[in-house]
Amino acid sequence: MANSKYEYVRSFEQPDVLLANTWIVVRIDGRGFSKFTTKYKFTKPNDKRALDLMNAAAQAVMKELPDLVLAYGNSDEFSFVFHKDCSLFERRSSKLTTTIVSTFTSYYTFLWPIYFPDTPLTPPLPSFDGRAVCYPSDQNLRDYMSWRQVDCHINNLYNTTFWALVHKGRLDARTAEKELAGTVSSNKNEILFSRFGINYNNEPEIFKKGSVLYRDFGPSSVHSSPTPPRSSASPNLAHPKPRQIPRPMSQPLERSLPILHKDSSTS
Ligand code: ATP
Ligand code: ATP
Ligand code: MG
Ligand code: MG
Ligand code: MG
Ligand code: MG
Ligand code: MG
Repeated sequence: MANSKYEYVRSFEQPDVLLANTWIVVRIDGRGFSKFTTKYKFTKPNDKRALDLMNAAAQAVMKELPDLVLAYGNSDEFSFVFHKDCSLFERRSSKLTTTIVSTFTSYYTFLWPIYFPDTPLTPPLPSFDGRAVCYPSDQNLRDYMSWRQVDCHINNLYNTTFWALVHKGRLDARTAEKELAGTVSSNKNEILFSRFGINYNNEPEIFKKGSVLYRDFGPSSVHSSPTPPRSSASPNLAHPKPRQIPRPMSQPLERSLPILHKDSSTS
C-alpha cells in the first residue's frame, strides 16, 4: 500500500545496482551435488544425461532472458553473461541473480523426467546458489571464462583418473585418493595411459571442456548451425521472438536468433 505508515520499512533495503557498462556474470552452482549425484546414481565421473539436462535448463534460461548473450557450463555449474548494455531490473544484483537461479531450477526440475525417465525426483529437490560479478573489460570476461574452463579441465582430469583407479584398477576410494595426492597433470595422463590404456585427449570434448551456449544475433534471418543443439531431446520450448541486442560483442556473431549450443573449443 503506497504511503501507509509502514512504508518507511522500504528504506531498510540496501541498494545493489551493478556497475554500468560492465559484463554481468551470474554463476549458479548445484547445492550439495556430491550427495545429489550419489542419490541418483550418476555415472562417474561424468553422467552425460546430467550434463545434457544442465545444458537444456540453461538453454531455456537464455530463451526467457533475451539480455543474456553467452553461457558456459560444466559439472553442476553454469555462468550466464548479461550484455554490458543490459538494463533489466535496473541491473539490480539480487533481482538478476534470483531470476536466473529460480528460472534455471524450475527448468532443471521440469526437464528432469526427460533425461532421467526411470528415476523420479524426490525431496530434497535440487537447488542452486547464485552470485553476480561485474567484469569491466572484454579481456576480463575472457579470463573469467578461461578460469572456469581451466577448473573444468583440472577437475575432469582428476576425476577421470580417480574413477579409472576405482572402476578399472579396483582400488577403494581412499587408496585411489592417496595415489593421486601430489600428482601433476602429466602423472595423471601417464596413469591413465599406461595402466588403463586411456588417452585422455580422446575423452569427449564436453567432459574435458564444458559447454558454451551463445545467442546468434543480427539483421539477417539466414542462419546455419555449425553444431546442432546438443539438447535436442528437450521438448519444443517456443523460440522467443528475435530480439536485437543493442551492440554486438567485440567478435560479432552475425547470424540470427536460435541459441546454438556446442562444446566449447578453446583450451
Ligand atoms: P556445494 O553445495 O558447495 O556446491 P557440491 O557437493 O555441489 O557442494 P561441487 O564442488 O559443486 O560441490 O561439486 C559438484 C559435484 O557434483 C562433484 O562431485 C561433481 O563430480 C558432481 N557432478 C556434477 N555434475 C556431474 C555429472 N554430470 N556427472 C557426475 N557427477 C557430477
Ligand atoms: P514483476 O515481475 O515486476 O513482479 P508482476 O506482474 O509479477 O511483475 P507484481 O507486483 O508482483 O507484478 O504483481 C503480482 C500480480 O499477480 C498481481 O497482478 C496480482 O494480482 C497477481 N496475483 C498474485 N497472486 C495471485 C492470486 N493468488 N490470485 C490472483 N492473482 C494473483
Ligand atoms: Mg509481487
Ligand atoms: Mg557451491
Ligand atoms: Mg555444487
Ligand atoms: Mg560445482
Ligand atoms: Mg511479481
